[in-house]
Amino acid sequence: MPLIQNYRELPEDFYTQVWPEPLANARLYALNQDLMTQHHIHLAETDIYQLCRGELPATLQPLAQKYTGHQFGYYNPDLGDGRGLLLGQWLTPNGQAFDWHLKGAGRTPYSRRGDGRAVLRSVIREYLASEALHALAVPTTRALAIVSGPETVWREGPEMRAMLLRVTGSHIRFGHFEWAADQGVDQLKTLADFVITHHYPELLNQADPYAALLKEVMQRTARLIAHWQSLGFNHGVMNTDNMSILGETFDFGPYAFMDDFKIGYICNYSDTGGRYAYNEQPNVGLWNCQVLAQAFQSLIPNENQRNALLDEYIESFNSHYLYLMRLKLGLQNPHPKDKHLIADLLICLDKHRVDFHVFMRSLAQLDTPHECWPQSQDYQAWLKNYQQRLELETLNTNERSQLIRNHNPARVLRNYIAQHIIELAEKGDDQVIDQWRKWLSTPFEDDDSVWTKVPKPTEKGQRLSCSS
Ligand code: AMP
Ligand code: MG
Repeated sequence: MPLIQNYRELPEDFYTQVWPEPLANARLYALNQDLMTQHHIHLAETDIYQLCRGELPATLQPLAQKYTGHQFGYYNPDLGDGRGLLLGQWLTPNGQAFDWHLKGAGRTPYSRRGDGRAVLRSVIREYLASEALHALAVPTTRALAIVSGPETVWREGPEMRAMLLRVTGSHIRFGHFEWAADQGVDQLKTLADFVITHHYPELLNQADPYAALLKEVMQRTARLIAHWQSLGFNHGVMNTDNMSILGETFDFGPYAFMDDFKIGYICNYSDTGGRYAYNEQPNVGLWNCQVLAQAFQSLIPNENQRNALLDEYIESFNSHYLYLMRLKLGLQNPHPKDKHLIADLLICLDKHRVDFHVFMRSLAQLDTPHECWPQSQDYQAWLKNYQQRLELETLNTNERSQLIRNHNPARVLRNYIAQHIIELAEKGDDQVIDQWRKWLSTPFEDDDSVWTKVPKPTEKGQRLSCSS
């Protein structure tokens, strides 16, 4: 099995070697052929299947990473990989290294009271969401395979146990830096050097590589969250241990692509205070970046310098969000009033609870009023402003329609669709997950199927708990 383990370059207190608890007689439920091709993974299906069941060759050096983090605003020093193991890195022919991480692999020293296991429902949700976001060009971890059964584990009831093979450049989280900072400046420097060497080598020749690293991570985080906002995506658990040092979408729990637009939408029904509500995400991203900046304190002692980077997060978020929303509205050239045009639209969609995705795509056919359009004066007023704004553009109607369709997905992983797939898989259908992955891999395709329409009232707005 040609996996290396570069995480062992770090001192031993950064991890613990742990072997997985295999999932005997599990079945292969999904194998991501697109990712196999993209990463030149020429292993036999049976090898991946074995690995994913937790039956590892003795040559591997699986480990659980140590980190800490802020959960719902409170520092938790006891975190670490509690139910996932870093198996090692796959090297692509051009020399890129990708972590392979087995989620649901059993207990580790960081499991606390957890059982170390994952269930089929939650790994399907992660597999599909990460592949859906990838197809939408949103930075994200990927998923290579799922195995499941026959054991059951208890969550809100008995559920099928499963494991997911997750793939990304790095599993290092903001929380890794919080832990290292607690250990002292030497450990912090070691971690920062490791991250720069392996993930940001272009920063090595900067005058101040640590400041450059912090800046780059914050900028990526700002752009990531701008992208989520533009897609009506609510992550749901933006704890600092779920924030990737690569600025990728990381750890999929009760996330949702919103149905009816609601500015204060909370996908996670355990989040009673709405800390991680949709409209809070940009601010929480900033809060998390402040925590990261605090962890960097001994490497970047000048507080003004750190604060300047946080200001740049805000600028970066605002400009990227505007850029993405303009494209969604079919606008090519910036205009100072665009902010208001966008804000007025969101207020209107929120007020009338309009389906976000169907509405946005319906703007590609402005001549044909869509049945989801609100019958209201405020909408008519907005539409008139929008039409006037379009007159300042040079694109013709067809070109603009194409631009809108290229930036507003027809195919969206709504929660009721994920639930439909989960129910079929739980009944034993081992084709359904990859069939839907393929469907989600071309989100901008014109598609007239029922799955691209406004969901029925009973299908809308399904919310989930943290339980996974
Ligand atoms: P999450 O909410 O999935 O981001 O997990 C937060 C922390 O709890 C991480 O350190 C996980 O490793 C750990 N954790 C979550 N679920 C389990 C479980 N079933 N068993 C052990 N640890 C878990
Ligand atoms: Mg997590």
